[in-house]
Amino acid sequence: MNKSAHNFDAYSFSKQPDYNEAEVRQAFSKAAPLKTVVVYCYDPRVTGIPKAVANELGDVFPGDVLIDENGNKAATTTTMFEVIVAGGRATDALRSVTVAQHLFGIENVVVVHHSHCGATSFTADGIIDAYKHEHGLDISESYPRESVCIGDYVASLEHDVRLVRESPGTPAHVNVLGYFYDIDTEQLTKVVEDLAEVRSAVAS
Ligand SMILES: [Zn+2]
Repeated sequence: MNKSAHNFDAYSFSKQPDYNEAEVRQAFSKAAPLKTVVVYCYDPRVTGIPKAVANELGDVFPGDVLIDENGNKAATTTTMFEVIVAGGRATDALRSVTVAQHLFGIENVVVVHHSHCGATSFTADGIIDAYKHEHGLDISESYPRESVCIGDYVASLEHDVRLVRESPGTPAHVNVLGYFYDIDTEQLTKVVEDLAEVRSAVAS
């Protein structure tokens, strides 16, 4: 790998001489009124998902980027951040949920799987075998097997809602929801719901 001669420290918060982590975090918390992280597939046919989820939950999306007095892009009015990954599988989103909570605070994590998804077109064994034969590479231990593809929509949504809920980076106050999205009708169907208030009622 070639090493770059560039230096981008001027653009890094933590590289500034007066850097104070707590103060920077405080400033970040005011830069986005975040409520919801939505996890969905990178399929170009499903770009309507975040807007559909925003309508369902009352979120602002895409919102506007706000410019400060120095002309810099400093904040946003959106209440929803996207995590766009193959199949919308939650395994790839856990770190992003943690960071969103740390910087902005969140109320909801929404996982959306969609009709006619490419992730339903292959099996875990199929992709592992293909990699072995086509590239001489063993990916059998690289990813959690149950998150490699989608075999059954209800099972995959239930799995992903449970995965987000059980992630140490998901605080108890967060609602976790799983939806199915029909790419042709653009309709969302709620499949799994793990609400924070239900959990606190059960716990008390
Ligand atoms: Zn897909």
